[in-house]
Amino acid sequence: MRVVEVDLGDRSYPIYIGQHLLNDGARLRQHIPGNRVLIVTNTTIEKLYLQKCTDALKAADPQLQVDSVVLPDGEEYKNMEVLGQVWDKALECRLDRGTTFLALGGGVIGDMTGFAAAAYQRGVHFVQVPTTVMSQVDSSVGGKTGVNHPLGKNMIGAFYQPRCVLIDTTTLDSLPRRELASGVSEIVKYGLIRDAELFEWLEGNMQRILERDPEAIAHAVERSCINKAEVVAADEKEGGVRATLNLGHTFGHAIETSTGYGTFLHGEAVSIGMVMAADMSVRLGWIDASILQRTRALLQSAGLPVTPPESMSIAAFKELMAVDKKVQAGKLRLVLLKGPLGGCVVTGDFDPAKLDETLAAFCS
Ligand code: NAD
Ligand code: MG
Repeated sequence: MRVVEVDLGDRSYPIYIGQHLLNDGARLRQHIPGNRVLIVTNTTIEKLYLQKCTDALKAADPQLQVDSVVLPDGEEYKNMEVLGQVWDKALECRLDRGTTFLALGGGVIGDMTGFAAAAYQRGVHFVQVPTTVMSQVDSSVGGKTGVNHPLGKNMIGAFYQPRCVLIDTTTLDSLPRRELASGVSEIVKYGLIRDAELFEWLEGNMQRILERDPEAIAHAVERSCINKAEVVAADEKEGGVRATLNLGHTFGHAIETSTGYGTFLHGEAVSIGMVMAADMSVRLGWIDASILQRTRALLQSAGLPVTPPESMSIAAFKELMAVDKKVQAGKLRLVLLKGPLGGCVVTGDFDPAKLDETLAAFCS
């Protein structure tokens, strides 16, 4: 087992990474104060892992009272109405302030459970058991929680850190291949923004990851968590360096919004977005063209898309990018690559003609 520490003073917490950790109820129990836990999961994961998780906790401590609530599966259910089901269940079960909410699932379940925990009786304990690559390498670490609003994704939420993150890499065995690749996109992102060694390792080991080789998966998840933990420890509330985690996301969000839920998975849109950001960085003269080529090749080797859909026009990109969260005082800020592999900047200070050139190159 590998352990990565997220250093946030008295709110610091461990990330455990290993095979079959879901069987290790005693380890989870250590991070559950009190005697009541509410497992929040969805209809897909319920069938795969709910019994296992419940049994492991019960085996570790027969006194622990374990309840569960099963939400519908899908990004379209990541909203306030469905979130209410968690609070309904907690109140029906008469759960008090000493309770722990346990998120068992991907990023949707993790984000919703964290927000539910932050607000239930003004805050109860929270632990994360992420079961997708996306949630294991990104969303379960760092404390961003919340739900979507009809007018915008992740617009309602809170920063709320878990007491631990338990990553059982064996759970990835049941993950659909497309979901696996989507998460890999965020791992490539860490390589591009701050970890050239990880990027180079990915170039030599992508097939092993896609085949779910346990050692390769453990390494990729651990390196990703180390990177995320370092960034979050330096800038928990995204006043500075945390924004670099949005590489490719401004282009990507435009693609996700334009095509609607489900057409592109988040990591797929980010994959295209990272290639577009790299392309623009080359045009600005900030990186060598070989970094763009290697980025495109690496993402393609994971089966990820690297060009936007034909339906997306230059005008659509411009309009949707203008509403991005990173727009400050009317000026678009982007995460762009700069310097040798592993370097990036967050800036609004670029020649806008280069953005136009990139959009023209990617849109038909
Ligand atoms: P997801 O939670 O929708 O999971 C993807 C699909 O895989 C779902 O159908 C799910 O039921 C299924 N699934 C989950 N684990 C499985 C398993 N082990 N075996 C088989 N199927 C399994 O999507 P995701 O990609 O995990 O997360 C995306 C969400 O995370 C988005 O809502 C996004 O906004 C959020 N997110 C948050 C942060 C953050 O910092 N909080 C970061 C990145 C993404
Ligand atoms: Mg992302």
